[in-house]
Amino acid sequence: MKYRAVKGTRDLLPPETDRFADAEATARRVFESYGYGEVRTPCLETTELFARSVGETTDIVHKEMYTFSDRKGRSLTLRPENTAGVVRAVIENGIAAGPMPLRLWYEGPQFRYERPQAGRYREFRQIGAELFGVPGPAAEVEILTMLFAFLEALGFRALTVAVNSVGTAQSREAFGKALQAYLRPRSSGFGEDDRRKLDENPLRLFDSKDPAVRAALEGSPRTLDFLDPESLRHHETVRRLLGDARLLFRDEPSLVRGLDYYTRTVFEVVSTELGAQDAILGGGRYDNLVESLGGPPLAAIGFAIGEDRLLQAAPRRSPDRALLLVLPQSPEDVDEALRLAAELRAGVRGSVEVDLLARGFRRGMARGNALFEEASARGLDREKIFAVLLGPREREGGTVTVKRLSSGDQETVPRASVAGWFEGRA
Ligand code: AMP
Repeated sequence: MKYRAVKGTRDLLPPETDRFADAEATARRVFESYGYGEVRTPCLETTELFARSVGETTDIVHKEMYTFSDRKGRSLTLRPENTAGVVRAVIENGIAAGPMPLRLWYEGPQFRYERPQAGRYREFRQIGAELFGVPGPAAEVEILTMLFAFLEALGFRALTVAVNSVGTAQSREAFGKALQAYLRPRSSGFGEDDRRKLDENPLRLFDSKDPAVRAALEGSPRTLDFLDPESLRHHETVRRLLGDARLLFRDEPSLVRGLDYYTRTVFEVVSTELGAQDAILGGGRYDNLVESLGGPPLAAIGFAIGEDRLLQAAPRRSPDRALLLVLPQSPEDVDEALRLAAELRAGVRGSVEVDLLARGFRRGMARGNALFEEASARGLDREKIFAVLLGPREREGGTVTVKRLSSGDQETVPRASVAGWFEGRA
């Protein structure tokens, strides 16, 4: 093989694409029911946008971005996440200064130069939502309620969200100093990269997987002890309202999230169904980001769900689609087969396929049997797989022969009533 997909990227093919499309359609339905409109921003942005928002010293900006110069020497980056692009877009298009609240959702590919492993890719997809203009805890409640509605629509049950608060820029700074003071005497075993973090942005050490760092962080100061009174009150109200809304959450004092723009509430959902116990989604409030990127002061909160990981962990839906294989026996029967298929499609929840090569009933049935064997992977209900045979006998008699693959039973049905015959069956 001469050409291969780039390391860390992959092709999505049927039936896997069906699961992605299904999750995206569910996101659209649920998010629109909360008044969120879809936004699509470019995959390419200026590099500076991410340096300013995600943060120069985060892993993402420091070592995971696909950055290159275009032909005019401008530094561009394939987006590693979508919030920065959405914020740029709402400022640039003037809607950050428009009526509030502003509700947006998105879906699309993101790019990070990470070490590929199960559930971690260099091109991956995120589904996310952003709510602008609501400084109070009602924003957290809406965003998390909607998130759970989406996850439940996909079949997840009993998920809990881990929540914490990182406070304001000031309280984060005070916390960072305390963390440095606590960790410096314990940092002899740290690698070079983690030493850099300790100096430049100690909160980022919580992202480290190194056991030496994890051990040193045991018993370290907690963000909640450094919150300003306003942030603390906000956090308490969020927790109370989440309880009132019966959203399952647990306090996670060491949760800080890997991006610099968060203020106050941060949250994450981790699934044990993924081998490495990876997060399927994360989010939080980012009340300063719009202003720091040149817009008006504007409170905001959002989440990003890793679509690839979500589908790895999501329960499989029971297959329910129908498949009708219309088999013309010879090329003379193809026209009629196409006409019949067009009629059947209107009433069938699934697909109607014509054997355009008219390879005859025997080979047509062989393909039918092969599809029958793969039914559940293809989302097909075995009881709803049929072959519809059209040959000289049928043509003369003004009939078709319908064969149910699960039982092998077959029946002659008048041509005029075939569509009706499938009602309630496919
Ligand atoms: P983040 O933007 O880092 O908060 O990530 C949000 C979610 O995106 C994570 O919880 C993951 O589910 C997903 N994600 C992040 N990086 C990757 C990756 N390299 N491959 C697959 N999913 C990812």
